[in-house]
Amino acid sequence: MTQFTPYWWQDEPHYRNTETLPTEVDCVVVGAGFTGLSAALTLANAGRQVMVLDSQMIGFGASTRNGGMLGSGHKVSVADAKQHYGSTIADQLHCEANASLAYTKNLIKEHAIDCDLQMCGRLRTAWTPDNFTAMAKANDDLQNIEAFAARMVAPDEMSKHINTPLYFGGLLYEGHASVQPKKLHFGLLQLALKAGVHVFGEQPVQAVKASLNGFCISTNGQQIDCQQVLMATNGYTQSKLSAFLAKRVMPVPSFIIVTQELGKEVVQGLLPGGHCMVETRQRFCYYRATPCGKRIMLGSRAALHAITPQQALPTLKAKLTEIFPSLKDTQISHCWTGFTGFSFSKLPNIGCHNGIYHALGYCGNGVAMAPYLGHKAALKMLYPDKKHSVFEQTLLQSRFYHHGSPWYMKGASAWYKVRDGWDNLQRHKALKQNKK
Ligand SMILES: Cc1cc2nc3c(=O)[nH]c(=O)nc-3n(C[C@H](O)[C@H](O)[C@H](O)COP(=O)(O)OP(=O)(O)OC[C@H]3O[C@@H](n4cnc5c(N)ncnc54)[C@H](O)[C@@H]3O)c2cc1C
Repeated sequence: MTQFTPYWWQDEPHYRNTETLPTEVDCVVVGAGFTGLSAALTLANAGRQVMVLDSQMIGFGASTRNGGMLGSGHKVSVADAKQHYGSTIADQLHCEANASLAYTKNLIKEHAIDCDLQMCGRLRTAWTPDNFTAMAKANDDLQNIEAFAARMVAPDEMSKHINTPLYFGGLLYEGHASVQPKKLHFGLLQLALKAGVHVFGEQPVQAVKASLNGFCISTNGQQIDCQQVLMATNGYTQSKLSAFLAKRVMPVPSFIIVTQELGKEVVQGLLPGGHCMVETRQRFCYYRATPCGKRIMLGSRAALHAITPQQALPTLKAKLTEIFPSLKDTQISHCWTGFTGFSFSKLPNIGCHNGIYHALGYCGNGVAMAPYLGHKAALKMLYPDKKHSVFEQTLLQSRFYHHGSPWYMKGASAWYKVRDGWDNLQRHKALKQNKK
């Protein structure tokens, strides 16, 4: 029987705070994911009284639902970044992406967070020969800005890394890693609690109103006075709380399945490199072994609009079988979904609007970036006149058609089907040519 809750949650503790809600603190953080907890930790370490509120159970959002792939990077090429922001910012974007990975790995190591950190590397796999060429060029561009551990894997070397004939080579990011995300979240939560942060679940923030001394927060009929507020709601941002942010961040669902236990030998046979895997095709798949090494986890955008995990399951199972036909009869033990937050610039952003700070827009790349930008957002709140990150300069744009509710995503799902078809056509053409 498939369970429709995150695999990561099973047997893991959920923290519940039964204390009375304070009525006054220095800072309120809305959202208890990686961003919110990391920001709270930095603020508390600087001597601020901090409260984190989540509308759901603590850790309900993407931070405990993700694939646990710890990497650097964002979705904007050097050429695009240069065109929109100029060379200096484009270079800084790459350097800070690397810095985010170093920051989060260091946070885990320094505090000995027990989160099954594995230095496994990430292999980005080319769906078409053109993807392989483009990846090599992108890697060269980035290496020229700041070197990092990555190397191309030629098509005939791929069998050392993965047991499928599907891909035309890849790019191996040797410094990337994997974690058990629920454990990372719990570790971060413990650090925040130890630093004196008050963290409450089931406390939806209904309104943030400017007051004489800062802000007045309304939650469950209670009022909390504070001087500063940080919105750390990413893909769960609601327009009734912040129309400004909801207009600028699209909630895009992602879906994950985990297989039944296959055994270490089977998993190693399918993934001999032991890496996290991410595809280049538009409706990309990402997959990895679970920390115990006995199961495979696979994620994909089964749809761009919200559907249930029950509806997504057949699509994900088909993707898994396409990659590994031997798993055709494998049972799926878990299937779940969660929301990523996409900005229109495809880059995250930290900033302040009407005195309310925010850090969000990770576009599906938040395991390293969200703790890092949570920390940077906290520094901004502590020292507003200083520049702390290049992500203060990225664009947080709105679009005339997006007012918070992504009504157009069904159409986008259909469009992606066309793009998938196009990708497959390119692939078949390349395969035919290879046979000649
Ligand atoms: C299925 C999936 C797979 C992913 N895989 C990866 C991966 O492998 N690698 C990677 O780098 N990234 C991945 N990501 C992205 C990554 O998980 C996110 O970018 C990151 O967790 C964002 O953290 P956050 O703290 O900003 O937001 P979240 O963890 O989503 O937390 C936001 C919180 O805000 C709360 N909230 C919203 N409104 C209110 C309100 N009014 N009052 C109080 N609380 C509120 C929500 O309840 C939620 O808990 C994935 C995401 C998903 C969904």
